[in-house]
Amino acid sequence: MQIALDEAYNGIGNGDGGPFGSVITKENHIIGRGHNRVLKNGDPTCHGEMEAIRDACRNSKTITAATASNFSKNTNKEKGCINYLYN
Ligand SMILES: [Zn+2]
Repeated sequence: MQIALDEAYNGIGNGDGGPFGSVITKENHIIGRGHNRVLKNGDPTCHGEMEAIRDACRNSKTITAATASNFSKNTNKEKGCINYLYN
């Protein structure tokens, strides 16, 4: 969770978007990470967890993350929105 929080702080430090960071793990290894880039990219779909999923898919060279786990964090210590869907 600390890495997701670090991502969130990195994003707001750069002015990329809202205070949301996310990490995707598979078999206890980080395969993707990201933070909110809505403002940077001018794209409302660039939530932290979506950026982490994109990174995981790029790194894994796959479009399925069915066996991966998502850990999202924001600086307000609330769960990321995708966690509300799956947890
Ligand atoms: Zn989201």
